[in-house]
Amino acid sequence: MSDERPYVSFKEVKEKIPLPDVLEALGIADNFRQSGDALVGCCPFHKHGPRPNANQFRMDDRKGGLWLWKCFSPDCDGAGGDVIEFVKRHENLSDSHVRFWFADHFADRLTCSKKPQKRSRGTPKGAKKEARPVRLTPERAEASTQSKEIPCEPADIKPLRFRLSVDPDVPYLRDRGVTQETAARFGLGLSRRRGMFQGYLAIPVFRYPRDRDENPIAYLGRWPGEDFDDADRPRYKFPADFPKSRFLYGLNEALADTKEDEPLILVEGCFSVFRLMQADIPGAVASFGASLSDAQAALLLASGRSVILMYDGDEAGYAGMRKAAGKLITGTLVRAIKLPDGRQPDDLSDDELRSLLRR
Ligand SMILES: [Zn+2]
Repeated sequence: MSDERPYVSFKEVKEKIPLPDVLEALGIADNFRQSGDALVGCCPFHKHGPRPNANQFRMDDRKGGLWLWKCFSPDCDGAGGDVIEFVKRHENLSDSHVRFWFADHFADRLTCSKKPQKRSRGTPKGAKKEARPVRLTPERAEASTQSKEIPCEPADIKPLRFRLSVDPDVPYLRDRGVTQETAARFGLGLSRRRGMFQGYLAIPVFRYPRDRDENPIAYLGRWPGEDFDDADRPRYKFPADFPKSRFLYGLNEALADTKEDEPLILVEGCFSVFRLMQADIPGAVASFGASLSDAQAALLLASGRSVILMYDGDEAGYAGMRKAAGKLITGTLVRAIKLPDGRQPDDLSDDELRSLLRR
């Protein structure tokens, strides 16, 4: 029985999951503050009197990149440990259950397998050695009777259990003409907290329909400038398991802003969605690139709207529009707007956008 359970290596957890990300996942990140290289605050584990000491609990990653914590209050009797011990204490979990917890919260960064250390030796050359990182729930792992190393199947998409706190006042957004109002509506902002998105513009992606106060299903990161090469950072960060082909960015807003007889406008990226909205042209949704997946096409068709295609003015955009039109044409009215070569919706003026749409 026990070896049917998802196995997440503690070693891998310690190496890949920093404590600040765990604090975010637990929703307690705001209880701690940065002090030099460390995060400090009140101890989350012992009971506090009326005047808790806000310096008694300390976390840092000095030790070779591994995050450690320690409570300096006598109430905790010198307790301390690593990221795993933190979650065990905070959530009151056993060793095996804490593995579920990490598999569930950080599936995109961890390798899940069904059996401990059952890495096959002598893998043929060119074969995948790495287990595919996937989201795994205990129920699924137990329901499966296969004893193969992988695959953990992707579970249904659920909102994240945490929300990044972000700063909407980002010079990069101003440079790209994104207003504070737009940033607030879409929840955009700079993530300053240590973790995967530190220093990145975090763009939350929500499912449709979105419940009020629901957390995003994922964040996308965009380096807030064009100096990503100099800074040696990827321009975009996508969580490894984010199924972007199943979402249309901005669909909640697009449907809320348009009437039933109005079209949806399909663009490639988030910034084109912002641009059209700010030009008072409602109804834009983005497919995260110049390719409309079958699932995205089904979402568009399910809306019952006609669709205007407005991908970027380049070969990928033109080819993507032809394919997208093929997927939509039997189900709704489709119109493609070919942008001038080298242009994309987010660098067109209001007038240019309007005149293209009017034609
Ligand atoms: Zn304590």
